[in-house]
Amino acid sequence: MTLASLPLGQRPEGRTALGARWIVACDENGHRLLRDGEIVIEGSEVLYVGPEFPGEVARRIDLGEMLISPGFVDLDALSDLDTTLLSVDYGPGWATGRVWPQSYVDRGPYEMYSPEELVFQKRFAFAQLLRNGITTALPIASLFYREWGETVAEFEAAADLAGELGLRVWLGPAFRSGGMVCTAPGVLEPVFDEARGLRGLEDAIAFAGRMAGRHGGLVQTMLAPDRVETCTIDLLRRTMAASAEMGLPVRLHMAQGRMERAVMARLHGTTAPDWLARHDLLSERLIAPHAVEAEDADLDLYAAHGVTIAHCPLVYARDGEGLRSFRRCRDKGIRIGMGTDTAPPDMVLNMAVGLMMGRAVGGGAEGLTTAEIFDAATIGGADALGRPDLGRLRPGARADIAVFDLADPWFAPGVDPIQTLIFGATGRVTRAVFVDGRLSMRDGAIVGHAPDDMRRQAQAQFDRLVAKYPDRTFGHPAVDRIFPPTYPLL
Ligand SMILES: [Zn+2]
Repeated sequence: MTLASLPLGQRPEGRTALGARWIVACDENGHRLLRDGEIVIEGSEVLYVGPEFPGEVARRIDLGEMLISPGFVDLDALSDLDTTLLSVDYGPGWATGRVWPQSYVDRGPYEMYSPEELVFQKRFAFAQLLRNGITTALPIASLFYREWGETVAEFEAAADLAGELGLRVWLGPAFRSGGMVCTAPGVLEPVFDEARGLRGLEDAIAFAGRMAGRHGGLVQTMLAPDRVETCTIDLLRRTMAASAEMGLPVRLHMAQGRMERAVMARLHGTTAPDWLARHDLLSERLIAPHAVEAEDADLDLYAAHGVTIAHCPLVYARDGEGLRSFRRCRDKGIRIGMGTDTAPPDMVLNMAVGLMMGRAVGGGAEGLTTAEIFDAATIGGADALGRPDLGRLRPGARADIAVFDLADPWFAPGVDPIQTLIFGATGRVTRAVFVDGRLSMRDGAIVGHAPDDMRRQAQAQFDRLVAKYPDRTFGHPAVDRIFPPTYPLL
């Protein structure tokens, strides 16, 4: 039998045995490579991983020259039509629509997408994640084009989307107490609205309690204060208290940028990790993208309190920056998970860039092993969520599986299967994805999705957003002056 015999978007009846040239199996010591083995899934679980299964199965599918892998766990999963792409070659942020000018604040910030566009954006993004072998996602999107924070309504819709498409998610609308405002060229001032931040938190707590466990457990919840410099200590204190009470992960961007460092130093006289530590708010429930601006003492605090770093190498490598370093963090005992954070939401590419950057800044080939970066994209993220049944293929684990084509012509010659995948540096060889035992993606196909139509719709929506950039760019220059072409137009 072939994968084509399985109904897309559904959980096959009875036991399904999947055989392939290679399987990333897991035992008590971690990932192990199994050659010419089989994995048997039944319902939503992995029943067996090993040599050919001796028991009865409803069907047996030989995938041939493929790699059966645990699906990736994406702790900062792009759920946006990515606007950070507009910040790679253009800057500084205040001159390119990434810091609100005072004039935009005075006129009243507004939602630059309609409610329908916000839902479409997540539908498009969730499909992209599945096509890249990502089975667990903690969505992230920009707040620059929002009126303030994310809304409960769009996250209720996102929960149903995850159920419809078959993607495991941890959802929480992003909230914040403040933001940066540009009052003169290059002059940035933090402004706060404490009551608005606390209302956002209350909404997020109610959402988290109401939505956790929806769609057969596929939907879980988190609290997502946006960026540390836009939060007051009271907001963060209440966030961490709710997290402790409800057992929810908290994702908070910190030690992630130079502007943040400057603002934290000015407002609080220290770094973000130190500020939180002084208020006893660091915990093992905290997932902190991106740590590229973390001091050694900050990393010591992460290690002491069990904070997980969400490592997103691609988005930083484009600016020539990176985590310093993967090796140092691991040597300190810090847990590292991974995130995509930018387009393309490709975890394989992120592993490739992470490996190169990790070695560039951290001791050459000894700085980081291929196994370590693969562990981060699977086990590291699962452990950050307290889920030993994710990120690993072993009996009793959730059947969250990605199938990669090792015979893709782009990959010739192949070496070891993990090296072939990571050195090949593209998730486009993802042929199938199972989430909770359900076939969510096969050869790019996802239930209810027409990729070409969706790409056109996504581009049109993105173009409409770009046309609004002058509204929130200092001095309101025309779009072609904010984003000039790479070469002069002929
Ligand atoms: Zn991020």
